Amino acid sequence: MVNIFIPDTLAEALRIRGQHETLVINGGTDVMVKYRRWNGMPPDFPLDVLHIGNLAELKRIKIVEEKLMIGAAVTLAELLEHPMVPDYIKLPIRQLASPAIRNMGTLAGNLCNASASGDSLPMLYALNAEITLASAHGTHKLPVRQFITFAKQTLLQPDELVTEIAIPLVDYTVSHYRKIGGRQVNAISKASFYAVAIKKDGIIEDVRIAFGSVAPTVVRDRACEEILIRTAETELDGKIETLRTRYGELLAPLDDTRSTADYRRHVSLQLLEDFIGRGMET
Ligand SMILES: Cc1cc2nc3c(=O)[nH]c(=O)nc-3n(C[C@H](O)[C@H](O)[C@H](O)COP(=O)(O)OP(=O)(O)OC[C@H]3O[C@@H](n4cnc5c(N)ncnc54)[C@H](O)[C@@H]3O)c2cc1C
Repeated sequence: MVNIFIPDTLAEALRIRGQHETLVINGGTDVMVKYRRWNGMPPDFPLDVLHIGNLAELKRIKIVEEKLMIGAAVTLAELLEHPMVPDYIKLPIRQLASPAIRNMGTLAGNLCNASASGDSLPMLYALNAEITLASAHGTHKLPVRQFITFAKQTLLQPDELVTEIAIPLVDYTVSHYRKIGGRQVNAISKASFYAVAIKKDGIIEDVRIAFGSVAPTVVRDRACEEILIRTAETELDGKIETLRTRYGELLAPLDDTRSTADYRRHVSLQLLEDFIGRGMET
């Protein structure tokens, strides 16, 4: 028998989190599947449950100092509908699950679940997203790339909640997301590729590239990106072989029920080649 806590305020949620060992439920779309029982019985939760999905303080989207601040309980559907959210953030969210799941699921849940195939993660790494972690004792911030330490592993402490995700807003001229899955909706990705770039007068001024589902965490490498920076779009073809080799060394895909390591590696490098070979036009 477990207790279910449904606090009305963030302060109360943090107090409960500090006093009890709890399983956090936000939208519940990962948690309810993980602890389901097939015989119509209630889920088999291993701990007391703390539901944070209704907390008004975590439902806000705002811009502060040129960063988009996304409250942890904002649903994926709310993100997609919000006029302040740029398309380069919406791109992978549109391909995540299905409308029903996006009505419940959150960006914070996708992040804290830390699956190697989480659709939002390549975007969050590429855009240098940062999270706020709160406990009853205070708050601190961490870059997403430090928060996630391995597949399904994060630095979240038992008394903490992720309260906000901050994404620096930049005028990218190019944004691109390709997800390879078994079907169009409700498909966990076999491989994914996210990129943004700033291209001015035919020159690449900045580019960020991130691969999902091909290693325990997202693969992003600034040294590889710098090979493309200050390159004319007409000369991008000449960089493809070098980058295929460099990224090929960084990708560490696995065989699993969804795909093989060979397929994941092959298709990921092809997505890279297509993106660069088309002059980063999407
Ligand atoms: C049918 C189906 C299809 C799916 N398709 C996809 C897909 O295509 N791509 C994809 O990436 N995912 C997919 N998912 C997985 C899931 O929907 C997403 O990961 C979603 O974003 C999870 O958000 P949530 O709020 O429901 O998380 P929850 O299930 O509530 O939580 C997920 C994890 O994060 C923790 N957590 C959540 N919020 C916080 C917080 N604020 N602070 C601390 N810990 C927290 C929870 O304790 C739990 O460990 C699918 C799921 C289903 C059921």
